[in-house]
Amino acid sequence: MATNGTNANGQPHRTAPSQNGKAYEFTDHTFDVVVVGAGGAGLRATLGAAQAGLKTACITKVFPTRSHTVAAQGGVAASLGNMGKDDWRWHMYDTVKGSDWLGDQDAIEYLVRNAPAAVYELEHFGVPFSRTEDGKIYQRPFGGMTTEFGQGPAAQRTCAAADRTGHAILHTLYGQSLRHSSEFFIEYFAIDLIMDEEGVCRGVVALCLDDGTIHRFRAKKTILATGGYGRAYFSATSAHTCTGDGGGMVLRAGLPLQDMEFVQFHPTGIYGAGCLITEGSRGEGGYLTNSEGERFMERYAPSAKDLASRDVVSRSMTMEIREGRGVGKNKDHIHLHLDHLDPAVLAERLPGISESARIFAGVDVTKEPIPVLPTVHYNMGGIPTNFHGEVLTKKDGNADTVVPGLMAVGEAGCVSVHGANRLGSNSLIDLVVFGRAAGLRCAETVSAAEEQPDLPVGAGDNAIARLDRFRYANGATPTAELRADMQNTMQSNCAVFRTGEILEEGHAKIHEVWKASDDIRVTDRSLIWNTDLIETLEYDNLIAQAVVTMDSARNRTESRGAHAREDFPDRDDANWMKHTLSFCDTVAKTVTLEDRPVHTYTLSNQIDYIEPKKRVY
Ligand SMILES: Cc1cc2nc3c(=O)[nH]c(=O)nc-3n(C[C@H](O)[C@H](O)[C@H](O)COP(=O)(O)OP(=O)(O)OC[C@H]3O[C@@H](n4cnc5c(N)ncnc54)[C@H](O)[C@@H]3O)c2cc1C
Repeated sequence: MATNGTNANGQPHRTAPSQNGKAYEFTDHTFDVVVVGAGGAGLRATLGAAQAGLKTACITKVFPTRSHTVAAQGGVAASLGNMGKDDWRWHMYDTVKGSDWLGDQDAIEYLVRNAPAAVYELEHFGVPFSRTEDGKIYQRPFGGMTTEFGQGPAAQRTCAAADRTGHAILHTLYGQSLRHSSEFFIEYFAIDLIMDEEGVCRGVVALCLDDGTIHRFRAKKTILATGGYGRAYFSATSAHTCTGDGGGMVLRAGLPLQDMEFVQFHPTGIYGAGCLITEGSRGEGGYLTNSEGERFMERYAPSAKDLASRDVVSRSMTMEIREGRGVGKNKDHIHLHLDHLDPAVLAERLPGISESARIFAGVDVTKEPIPVLPTVHYNMGGIPTNFHGEVLTKKDGNADTVVPGLMAVGEAGCVSVHGANRLGSNSLIDLVVFGRAAGLRCAETVSAAEEQPDLPVGAGDNAIARLDRFRYANGATPTAELRADMQNTMQSNCAVFRTGEILEEGHAKIHEVWKASDDIRVTDRSLIWNTDLIETLEYDNLIAQAVVTMDSARNRTESRGAHAREDFPDRDDANWMKHTLSFCDTVAKTVTLEDRPVHTYTLSNQIDYIEPKKRVY
């Protein structure tokens, strides 16, 4: 459990100035590894580092089992072949194609080859997977998952614990990480990284939410596992805590984020509420209809139909609505049918979403269709890393330069296995495979015996200055107003359909909101459970990422994966098969865009580079 240790390491307290005249005081901690985030990725990394005998801390702003991973429903992908023939190479092909050839193929090979072992590890840790008749892990079909390099029928590759897979994984991983001697700092909010003059990450500063104490963590490795930033948009399936705090810290440290223009919309968020109805529901036989009762996906994706990949389904739904064939009074959504399925199957395989549909849409899924709409679901972009989880930046023209001391995993990271579009069930596997990889990398590169140098003078003052600035923010605009402006701008100007004009307008608007943020007002000045202050720090993280998302989208003049531009309908490999790197100066409020080559090579000679071709389903 959390210790409020007063200088357990004999380091002197030091103080930093405050606007109210009273100095802030640091409580100092020293660890080999500090993980920020206790979702699936953070817990798996914590577990790995602790197993390697490293003194490990995990800092989390919410109780570990409340992390967004708990909400994952459909499952976790691995080519176990329990329900038909499967091969990691087919999983690789599907993931590369799903990424629209923007994924790094070395990282993708690492993911899919390690996936089966990672799922068996979860099984042995205690995840209660659903079972087949003969006792094997149950696997369901998911969008874009095929056999025979896209030539065969749909693969049954997604391992599921009913429709509560993330819940099962997260609880199991938390239990496992408590078995090892890692230390948890629960309800601690990480404010900023500690970077030294050489650009080495030396730790992180966090605020303890319930007593207002400020903690300075010195570490040989800091691993960001802070999740996505879905809440930059108005309608998102992700939790209110998904505010991309790690991405904000990275931008403020002068480091880049990668491929931020690629935002995944899930086809089936419940209309109005935004809660997710898993793709597993279509995996179990559900289908979409328009106002004419037509199964329109047959027109857009003749072979995969309702199980085409998410960007394709979301775009098709949006087309139907735009052409006047939406359902409901305002013709602004679509119907998802499960009412033809056996109620016993619904009760066994999809109990959670049956309940969500009843609560949030007032629908009995055994009798009526569910009203659904594409809703922000996942951020393909994030902190660039290699497949060990080490954070990368661009230095002297080399965009694969490792930032010493800093790592990132999970949705916060961009390794990049999902490229321009993630396949359903490929995130949970990404969390455990790369969470484990990060732990292994720490074991290789960190020595528990080695002394850690003292922190430089003034370490952590940046975090204090940021905290203090917002704590006493005395402008005229409340955070909630700025946040609503940001979310509405992103929702209307950077969503499923994009054109130069829409993005240009969005660019002007979002920069305006960013500038207006200087006039922010926080009313509560305390440091104890100050939700006004925390939401402001989160908003500040979100707005920087909203801005780079918009600017990256405006810059990319092609269509690829989730980034579909009506004015540039085709993928343009000659000019755009490259990652976007976005840097921003959060003080001057400017953005600089650069690029990074896609890794067009694999890890081993057991599979060749998968050549780009047109992506049809
Ligand atoms: C509704 C829903 C259903 C999904 N279903 C599936 C599915 O079936 N299959 C699949 O593969 N993927 C699914 N996904 C995607 C997947 O669940 C997520 O991408 C993944 O769980 C993210 O995990 P994570 O460990 O990166 O971060 P999260 O689980 O989001 O955890 C982030 C952690 O960081 C901590 N944190 C954040 N900021 C700070 C800070 N400033 N200070 C301290 N701590 C901080 C939080 O406390 C939390 O512990 C789904 C996503 C959603 C939203």
